[in-house]
Amino acid sequence: MRYADLILPVPLLGMFTYAVPDAMAVQVGMRVLVSFGRSKTYLGIVARVHDCAPVGYEVKPILQVMDASPIVNEQQLRLWQWIADYYMSPIGDVYKAALPAGLKVEDGYRPKTETYIRLTPQYRSVTALHIALNVLSRAKKQLEAFTEYLALSHWDEVADDDDQPSGITPVEVTREELMNASQASAETIKQLEKRQMLECYEVEVGRLNHDGEYRPELIAPLSAPQQDAYNDILMSMMKRQVTLLHGVTGSGKTEIYIHLIQRALERKEQVLYLLPEIALTVQMMQRLQRVFGHRLGIYHSKYSDAERVEIWQKQLSQNPYDVILGARSAVFLPFQRLGLVIVDEEHETSYKQQDPAPRYHARSAAIMLAQMRNEIATPHSDHRSEKGEMRNEGPKVLLGTATPSLESYHNAKTGKYGLVELKERYQGIELPEIQVVDVADLQHRKMMNGPFSPLLLTRMREALERKEQVILFQNRRGFAPVVECHQCGWVPTCQHCDVSLTYHRQMNQLTCHYCGYTYLVPHECPCCGSTDLRTRGYGTEKIEEQVREIFPEARVARMDLDTTRTRNAYERIISDFSAGRTHILIGTQMVSKGLDFDRVSVVGILNADSMLSYPDFRAHEHAFMMMSQVSGRAGRKKKRGLVLLQTKQKDLPLIHQVVHNDYTGLYRALIAERQAFHYPPYYRLVYVFLKHRYDQTVHTAAEEMGARLRHWFGGRVLGPDKPAVAKVKSQNIRKLVIKLEVGIDMKKVREYLLMEQQQMLADKRFSSLMIYYDVDPQ
Ligand code: ADP
Ligand code: ZN
Ligand code: ZN
Repeated sequence: MRYADLILPVPLLGMFTYAVPDAMAVQVGMRVLVSFGRSKTYLGIVARVHDCAPVGYEVKPILQVMDASPIVNEQQLRLWQWIADYYMSPIGDVYKAALPAGLKVEDGYRPKTETYIRLTPQYRSVTALHIALNVLSRAKKQLEAFTEYLALSHWDEVADDDDQPSGITPVEVTREELMNASQASAETIKQLEKRQMLECYEVEVGRLNHDGEYRPELIAPLSAPQQDAYNDILMSMMKRQVTLLHGVTGSGKTEIYIHLIQRALERKEQVLYLLPEIALTVQMMQRLQRVFGHRLGIYHSKYSDAERVEIWQKQLSQNPYDVILGARSAVFLPFQRLGLVIVDEEHETSYKQQDPAPRYHARSAAIMLAQMRNEIATPHSDHRSEKGEMRNEGPKVLLGTATPSLESYHNAKTGKYGLVELKERYQGIELPEIQVVDVADLQHRKMMNGPFSPLLLTRMREALERKEQVILFQNRRGFAPVVECHQCGWVPTCQHCDVSLTYHRQMNQLTCHYCGYTYLVPHECPCCGSTDLRTRGYGTEKIEEQVREIFPEARVARMDLDTTRTRNAYERIISDFSAGRTHILIGTQMVSKGLDFDRVSVVGILNADSMLSYPDFRAHEHAFMMMSQVSGRAGRKKKRGLVLLQTKQKDLPLIHQVVHNDYTGLYRALIAERQAFHYPPYYRLVYVFLKHRYDQTVHTAAEEMGARLRHWFGGRVLGPDKPAVAKVKSQNIRKLVIKLEVGIDMKKVREYLLMEQQQMLADKRFSSLMIYYDVDPQ
């Protein structure tokens, strides 16, 4: 009798053994249908086939094999196992994260479509549009919806501009977007369809155009410094598996990647190019698509499942994409001849998955993926030469960034990774000038205009007069982070979470940014009855409102989670700004990501202090990255940009490091601190979270878990403590921190943790307690 160990999509540790019926052709990596528990059926993945009969329970048979050949290869399965072990999450959760949904259900996938709106052909001219507007002048709602459509699609500019009535390509608009923007009902839009002014058409969600030709002639030649960096990278890759490219913003790292990709293609190797957030990198995507055409596949969890399944299948076929551009989930795709992995913006914390499990870091997973291929390439050899250097085998990994994570830079400095530095911008353009604005002093002299210093307003005005653009960065969305009773100080908080609510004016509601729950704005204070409720602090929405008041003639756009909910809203904001249709862009950290604009001469960092006050050991590291990245958006072509950095802590060393772009100074200061206080990269952190409905239960459980862990790990265990937000979605939370010196046997650590976890969960007092881990928290 043969047996198969299966990975099932259940959050339980370990695998499950089933019997393989005699006539069934089962291979590792195939999907099989099995029954589980009393009444459930699941699609499992075969991880191992063997003939050791399990003891102690009755073995059920596999019901059906779903595949003629494996859909997951052995290296992928080893990566899953590594993630499950290292991040201490059930392998079933890794399976769920790794496979697109369409491969996890029995009846396959159905493509999802979205309805778009466009002008009917007969109205696509200036004259016809004037007629339409005339006709609609008595149907107010339809007129509103129609003019809103013209604005969204930019047909209104066609109509304004008689010089070039054609030649402008209108922007695509979804029906949902139009309804949101104009508050028009579906009925109103239907009437416009009946009048044959607008028409609807369906587009498959996420379906991208992969049809272009591969056009290597579009690859720009490298400048001399870029060529040097390129050569250094190749040299480094001969010695080490991982190389860090530290290149300032605007140094043209993308061009270097493109040359490396082309080289890999010539060598018939596949390339995996990881980006932190695909949605935020439309520009980069388009650049790569122009060059690599149909040889490039884009993979992202936000794309339609249909497309993800299609790409997965294609990667298994004889004719896979040579280059995959994707966000973190792309590390799970099958590769046949992977040669190069690029992790762009390697410092980005969004590479770490937060919720749900597995809480893995895609950078680490990518490095492991490359190492696994390495082992496959030379199954029995020792990879290290006598000098401890990696041999030149297997895929290479390039980490790229202007602001390396402390871990990666440390690895580079200590020789574990290669290091290549690119210190000048393309064409020698200067890095922006960063001026510090002393908000403490200005407030003292009552000279602040809300969140704006007089200098910022002056520089903004000058920039607008010169027809240049401005970016304002505020790391808080919503209108105001706090609403407060002016009489008694009462602050509305979420009923399910331990946080105050953010006021959103446009929607006129209070929102919890942790669970998403919304509340009506109270008319009076429930404590004292006063009606004097005031907002405190500035979110992007309020900044936008004030900017519109101060600069009524400027076109203002806002980019944050609230304005980018619909699928192409983000692209629209970017394309409007980059074409100069908007002048001032206000946003959260979204505005700092990988954007390349030509006309931005002023960047305002409105409140540096809010980034410095996070209760997190990485607060300064992250603040430096955010400020450097957003500064990097200033003055990218021909002209030096200006950044105004508003802070009340102008003498803080960090502020000086940002001003002088002194990454090495930052590194030296932080690394000394990390060593002294036992933090990464000298120590490995594991957070242990306990969650329960009742605060008393979780309190007791956490104390007990702490005691149990101290038995094994002694003083390496800190806590339990309440985390900064100690209640989320009605679950009370406690956190233990374990600090482990690097080099400690992690396998043992895991064993002890899981053993204690099991004993805790077996205790009747702690029924429905949840315990989970965050390894290498970001
Ligand atoms: P980084 O990613 O390092 O911040 P980018 O790759 O965005 O920098 O490059 C900055 C700008 O310089 C982009 O507009 C890019 O097209 C341009 N650029 C960089 N290198 C070259 C090159 N070799 N030839 C032509 N344009 C280049
Ligand atoms: Zn009150
Ligand atoms: Zn909440």
